[in-house]
Amino acid sequence: MNEIAALTPTSMQQKLNQWVEHYRQYTNEGACASYIPALKKADLNSLGIYMLSDDGIQLKSGDTEQSFTLQSISKVLSFIHACSSHGISHVLEYVDVEPTGDAFNSIFRLELSHPGRPFNPMINAGAITVASMLPGQSPDEKVDGLLCLIEKMVGRKPRINEEVFLSEWGTANRNRSLAYWLKETGFLLCPVEDAIEVYLRLCSIELCIADMAKIGLLLARDGIQPGTYRHVFSKEIASLTKTLMFTCGMYDYSGRFAAFVGIPAKSGVSGGIMAAIPSGAAMPSNNRPDSGPWGIGVYGPSIDKFGNSIAGVKLLKRLAKEWDFRLL
Ligand code: GLN
Repeated sequence: MNEIAALTPTSMQQKLNQWVEHYRQYTNEGACASYIPALKKADLNSLGIYMLSDDGIQLKSGDTEQSFTLQSISKVLSFIHACSSHGISHVLEYVDVEPTGDAFNSIFRLELSHPGRPFNPMINAGAITVASMLPGQSPDEKVDGLLCLIEKMVGRKPRINEEVFLSEWGTANRNRSLAYWLKETGFLLCPVEDAIEVYLRLCSIELCIADMAKIGLLLARDGIQPGTYRHVFSKEIASLTKTLMFTCGMYDYSGRFAAFVGIPAKSGVSGGIMAAIPSGAAMPSNNRPDSGPWGIGVYGPSIDKFGNSIAGVKLLKRLAKEWDFRLL
């Protein structure tokens, strides 16, 4: 029996353990996000991964128990919720689907482009617009709608980390600038302070990597819940969201991540990465014991200059290559 044919969940688990310990050393090369004061408290050397397959294979390694705030990963969820509530075409009147190649919180393209529609919902400008259009009259109602959607996805209603929210609320000058600009150009559908409150509360939702893997798997399964076979969101929304993750999900590293890792993923500055591996995405291969969809959650709060988990990206690159998870 050759080594490839011997690949089993047990041998995958062993590999994963080796890789997590190997890539953990790179956490020293990054730093925890400091522009949101409360995020500085994270343990720089943490690294954990959780993988879930359609067939119920669960692989986990490293620091798997920690909860962390979603930060930009929430942009995926708010986009899904806005599209489910208003329809894709209505949402796309207010936010485009073009990558920018700019930092996630960049403002300058908003003025350069006409009529000023934010480039995509995975950057701050687009996500603030999306937050402003969520259903509900008040920030509380808008946020609660998203928490209910997450409850359907992971089986419990998550909490909001109030300390992280307040820490960012007090320092969100750049996000407020984006929101004022969007208001000026007609791309903000509620008052500025309400939109910022909703956006920042969504960034402060706390989940763990097992939850990320569940949501990633749900995306990979085109929105169909394992077990109940109910659609939590439509296939069209799932396809569009995965495409946006692939093209825009890793900030101004998105092109390189697509080229060299090759899977749809979304990161947050707290160090989380959520990935969705659709079924049949890779070439048929002996390297995968299970060719069905997978969801992956990674946490490693030491981030690089783009805002992505430094060790998390390396870990995903390794396993996408070794296990043929690449889309193309
Ligand atoms: N709350 C963060 C911000 O708005 C989210 C950014 C991120 O994760 N890249 O700056």
